[in-house]
Amino acid sequence: MYFISTRGGKERVSGASAIVQGLAKNGGLFVPEKFPQITAEELDGMLTMSYAERAAEILHKYLDDYDKKGLLAACEAAYSRFESPDPAPLVKIDDGVYILELFHGPTCAFKDMALTLLPYLMRTGCDMCGIKEKILILVATSGDTGKAALEGFKDADGIKIMVFYPSDGVSKMQKLQMCTQDGSNVNVVAVKGNFDDCQTAVKTIFNSEECAAALKQKGYLLSSANSINFGRLAPQIVYYFSSYLDLVSSGQIEMGTQIDFCVPTGNFGNILAAYYAKLMGLPVRRLHCASNMNNILTDFLAKGEYDARREFYKTTSPSMDILISSNLERLLFEVSGRNGELVAERMNKLKTDKVYKITPEEQAEIAKTFDGGWANEDEVVETVYDVFCDTGYTMDTHTGCAMKVAVDWFEKNKKDTTNMVVVATANPYKFPQDVLYAVTGNDVRDSFKGIKRLHAATAMKVPASLAGLKDKPVRFSSGVSPDKMFGAVMDFVSD
Ligand SMILES: *Cc1c(COP(=O)(O)O)cnc(C)c1O
Repeated sequence: MYFISTRGGKERVSGASAIVQGLAKNGGLFVPEKFPQITAEELDGMLTMSYAERAAEILHKYLDDYDKKGLLAACEAAYSRFESPDPAPLVKIDDGVYILELFHGPTCAFKDMALTLLPYLMRTGCDMCGIKEKILILVATSGDTGKAALEGFKDADGIKIMVFYPSDGVSKMQKLQMCTQDGSNVNVVAVKGNFDDCQTAVKTIFNSEECAAALKQKGYLLSSANSINFGRLAPQIVYYFSSYLDLVSSGQIEMGTQIDFCVPTGNFGNILAAYYAKLMGLPVRRLHCASNMNNILTDFLAKGEYDARREFYKTTSPSMDILISSNLERLLFEVSGRNGELVAERMNKLKTDKVYKITPEEQAEIAKTFDGGWANEDEVVETVYDVFCDTGYTMDTHTGCAMKVAVDWFEKNKKDTTNMVVVATANPYKFPQDVLYAVTGNDVRDSFKGIKRLHAATAMKVPASLAGLKDKPVRFSSGVSPDKMFGAVMDFVSD
């Protein structure tokens, strides 16, 4: 399988190259040349497999340049680091409504599903491509990617990792998780600005030949652990298959029955992986794209116009506080009939004018599968509270946004009997004060008091990795403005 750029051109690379490089040379994102198909027999065969075995099957369809046994061993190692024996358990909370819990990894957010595996894909990929330089991974994070990437890549051979986060844009717990990170090859820096400023500055470094040359002189090659990297997307496709198979093997649905997913969305990576699963042949009917107050995707899906000329809100679901959703570019590529020139035009327009429009045909194509909705801050609180009261289930604020969108869907479509899987992206203890407030109305300042009280209210198990943060020393406290980021990168590789 080869990978090509969303912005056209002749570049055509192997899976290993796509992962090591991160971005295509013309600034586009790598996409598979075509979508591998999963047959009904293959799906049947996967029913009795473990999560890791299912993962190796699906990953190898895209990454057929990697050794399949090696992939399986890597998946087994990655998912053995999860707290639960099943890395992606499905919880039924009502008739036809399920929660897919993706937060049982080392850093308690769904990013672990891919970032526990990416170091293997990257390291092995470098060897396969005969790369002699060391790798420098740059990450822009809205909170959860940074920690998951740090944890995945810490002390990895021949790799350094540097994470930039918006100084006021992440939760206290997220900040503490990152700034106490151990490992000899890691660095964490706060950036004055919001996530989009961070992400744009990191992309600028990626696209700059000057930066690449300066780093090469120091013996480093740049790569990315953000969801623009196909190595992030591929492992995310797996849990859509796996949850479907779990519904079948537990007798909740019959093989072939279509289901819906509702996904809390920021950079459009998670929900795009669901779309890829559908394009591979998974029986998915609709994908519900859930946003918070930064509801640019809701508007885009309704109007066919992506308009970033709007206020940016800081919300209680910070990992979704994003106005420029990078992975939407991959969806545009598909619905434009894989027209790279058109995608490039729009991405340039987004950069210069902060707005672009798609054609009515493209809009119709998207609407065949996607619809969008959003939750304001009060609605998140109400939804988390209602679900807790009605079912005893505690969800985090991001998942709360998705749940609200799912509830609205059922309100509007009362006769719809299609099963809905709501994707849960973070452990509630990652946002303890906000979840505590939603569940009990109590307001506490301190995150650890929040954890204690949330535990008292819900009796839910506290993940050791979060409780243990209290006693860890803070290692990183520096900050820079976006224009000084590359300077900080050079300092880091010169150490
Ligand atoms: C990253 C993240 C999201 C958004 O996922 P995208 O792939 O960026 O759309 C939602 N919820 C949580 C908790 C996250 O960490």
